[in-house]
Amino acid sequence: MATMPLMAVLGVACNEAATTEQPWIVDRFDDIKVIRYEVPGFEELPVEQKELIYYLSEAAKCGRDILFDQNCAVNLPVRRTLEVIYNNYEGDREAAEWKALEKYLKKVWFANGIHHHYSNDKFTPEFSQEYFQGVIASIGEEPFGELTSYRGVVCNAIFDASLYPTKLNQKAGEDLLLTSSSNYYSGVTQAEAEAFYAKMAAADKGNMQPISYGLNSQLTKDDAGKIIERVWFAEGMYGEAIKQIIYWLEKAEAVAVEPQKQTIRHLIEYYKTGDLKLFDAYNIAWVADTESHIDFVNGFIEDYGDALGRKASWESIVNFKDVEACHRTEVISENAQWFEDNSPINPIYRKPEVKGVSAKVITVAMLGGDCFPATPIGINLPNADWIRRDYGSKSVTIDNITYAYDKAAQGNGFTEEFMLREEDRARIKEFGKLADDLHTDLHECLGHGSGRLKEGVSPTALGSYSSTLEETRADLFGLYYIGDEKMVELGLVPSFEVAKAAYADYIMNGMMTQLSRIEPGKNVEESHMRNRKLIAEWCYAEGKAENVIEWVTENDKRYIVVNDFEKLRELFGKMLWEIQRIKSEGDFEAGKALVEQYAVQVDPELHQEVLARYAALGIEPYGGFVNPEYEPVMEGDKVVDVKISYPANYVEQMLGYGKNYSFLPNKN
Ligand code: ZN
Repeated sequence: MATMPLMAVLGVACNEAATTEQPWIVDRFDDIKVIRYEVPGFEELPVEQKELIYYLSEAAKCGRDILFDQNCAVNLPVRRTLEVIYNNYEGDREAAEWKALEKYLKKVWFANGIHHHYSNDKFTPEFSQEYFQGVIASIGEEPFGELTSYRGVVCNAIFDASLYPTKLNQKAGEDLLLTSSSNYYSGVTQAEAEAFYAKMAAADKGNMQPISYGLNSQLTKDDAGKIIERVWFAEGMYGEAIKQIIYWLEKAEAVAVEPQKQTIRHLIEYYKTGDLKLFDAYNIAWVADTESHIDFVNGFIEDYGDALGRKASWESIVNFKDVEACHRTEVISENAQWFEDNSPINPIYRKPEVKGVSAKVITVAMLGGDCFPATPIGINLPNADWIRRDYGSKSVTIDNITYAYDKAAQGNGFTEEFMLREEDRARIKEFGKLADDLHTDLHECLGHGSGRLKEGVSPTALGSYSSTLEETRADLFGLYYIGDEKMVELGLVPSFEVAKAAYADYIMNGMMTQLSRIEPGKNVEESHMRNRKLIAEWCYAEGKAENVIEWVTENDKRYIVVNDFEKLRELFGKMLWEIQRIKSEGDFEAGKALVEQYAVQVDPELHQEVLARYAALGIEPYGGFVNPEYEPVMEGDKVVDVKISYPANYVEQMLGYGKNYSFLPNKN
């Protein structure tokens, strides 16, 4: 599972004055900004650890083509055709249509394909097919090589809006596989796929440690029409890229120390065989290793891209511990029992014995596959339920990425536009990042794990409201405790001012600014957004008599302000009591009533105002990154150092990846 960044820190204005002040932003196009992140502490690492990071980073880059092909079967020839054009065109590069073509290519790189990375809709080119063909004709056939035979496929993919309209269709009632353009299933209907995997699961019934069926394969039909899995491993589909990943993992294994050495060995064996039991063995070894300073994820991990939630996209992250920041999560985990015992919930629903989650703060050294260029800010793995149950999970917060987001957002005008009071803005500036980090830590390390169910209550009793209510519970836990004196006592915050920053930001986001992510006419659907709205609106209503939270209009603009932070904290506690009761007792009706009353309906006038004010700031809603580059310093065949550098050119990095880390054929 992955935590995506909150919008509040994502904004960046595109006015020029801001650009000159923002060396963190290296490119901006369409609704995207590309940010550079730094890797503090890399230079001080011992050389063996630098070498290990270098090898793992190379492995992280070798699977890029896999993700392109997973996202849509035509993505590789489209990207490569555009890259040949970009490298060879000698015509007017100032023409509006050329700029549009360049923007399209930048978007394809960013999304790892022709569909938007967040909305999943196919991009609409802002240049004509005639122009495109004219550009190609001016270059001549030779530079295109084998790509020439894909010309028709590429043109149709780019210009025919009816082809591959969405990467992932989730509309209930339609055939979700035939209407999704991703390449996880080919020529099989949803009913066929469901029957295929139901049969597999039935054969494994009663196994308490089931493998993740279908995780690492495409489901398709053979020539005889029989349904088969094409497994992603060294000798199977995507084998050319996987062999490269293995090459670098073997180098990493050679310099790693136990127990990490064994973990890498499991992963190599899994890649060589495609055997999902070995993937489980890798995950078990990985989750047990909380001591290694360097850590990494490399594999077919998250299933958000598959409508059936079975197939995993390829991704990689290489990182090392941020020792200073880890102190924060260690202190929280060590005091887990105190937090539970003092939680503002009915004592009968407290956990008598809390098991702390292994949580740490990391510094990312390399992002790859589905974590690049857009990236999560927190990760909790592995995903297999039984491994989490029997062996636990690792939860990480990525500090240098949130730091870079934070830097890139400074001076974008967002807080000035939406936060009325200077004192609130000053607090956000001083404590905003600490408040965000602590809230995430409390939410992830303790919030989700706290409380217990009444005996006999089913964990699925809250049905479709369960994820909203669960996120609400974890958020309230974080909000309540961030303002507790215990936090000062533990040395985690200097004063209640940090909570004030968190509260003002949370209420503003929940009641107002998060609406900027919703299309006009739509209501709130996504469960994290619902939970924020639920908390903010409930506290507004409950505190109305005492004017705890207030709407203020100034110069025809609406603002939401918190008048009484102490009282608001009491309301968070009161609400947590009720939400925990609903969960512990499985009170579906009460949960449904709360969500439907507070979390779903959008006030259309307010929505319109937020969208207009947000648009006027010219803030790109999405952000992503360029990676650092590593270069080994050799003495003979021995690595004696690894140098890090920070490229400031998105296009160059993408062209370089296309040239040096592209191993798959056009058709897979
Ligand atoms: Zn959560």
